[in-house]
Amino acid sequence: MSISKNIRKIKNSIPEDITLVAVSKTKPISDIRIAYDSGHKIFGENRVQELVEKYEQLPQDIEWHMIGHLQRNKVKYIAPFVSLIHSVDSIKLLEEVNKRARLNNRTIDCLIQVHIASESSKFGFLSSEIKHALLESSKLENVNIIGLMGMASFTNNNNQIEKEFLFLKSVFKKNQNNLSVLSIGMSGDYKIAINCGSNMIRVGSIIFGNRN
Ligand SMILES: *Cc1c(COP(=O)(O)O)cnc(C)c1O
Repeated sequence: MSISKNIRKIKNSIPEDITLVAVSKTKPISDIRIAYDSGHKIFGENRVQELVEKYEQLPQDIEWHMIGHLQRNKVKYIAPFVSLIHSVDSIKLLEEVNKRARLNNRTIDCLIQVHIASESSKFGFLSSEIKHALLESSKLENVNIIGLMGMASFTNNNNQIEKEFLFLKSVFKKNQNNLSVLSIGMSGDYKIAINCGSNMIRVGSIIFGNRN
């Protein structure tokens, strides 16, 4: 199936108010072009250098989302144009985003990444740290925390995935007066995520094909 058909199929199967981030990491410009020409404008990348290269070569009305672990010393490269950073996992990173946003005369929307998986290798704040992170971020003028992001454990156990997503949904609900975006769900688990309250899914391989 073609990239544009894959996107249409996913969009037709989810409620209209759910944002689809097409995760184009490792995929060539030509693939993103096909998706763009079919009308899709929101793409996610997880590496800064790749994100910048693609930004420079593709139309300016694309909304670029940074979804991967972000090192502080690389924030400056994406600060001029990034639409949403999903992966804020420390106060220090948030402060750097704020500084670089200010230098670019803009405010950058961010999500707080929450560690919900059983693996310790995944990044993110503990749920007990969210309140503090939100408080700290409210002191920063050039970042806007609009929601939470999480990644489930790498497992085939849908019950466990659902449990982790529902946990994040409960954290989200507690802070719902300040937050509007809940970014959960990837190719393998976006249907579970939507049932658990996701309103932003990050989908790569079932659009562009498996990555090598
Ligand atoms: C790669 C990636 C995705 C998309 O994964 P697929 O399984 O290909 O849909 C989503 N979120 C993050 C953070 C990723 O790194």
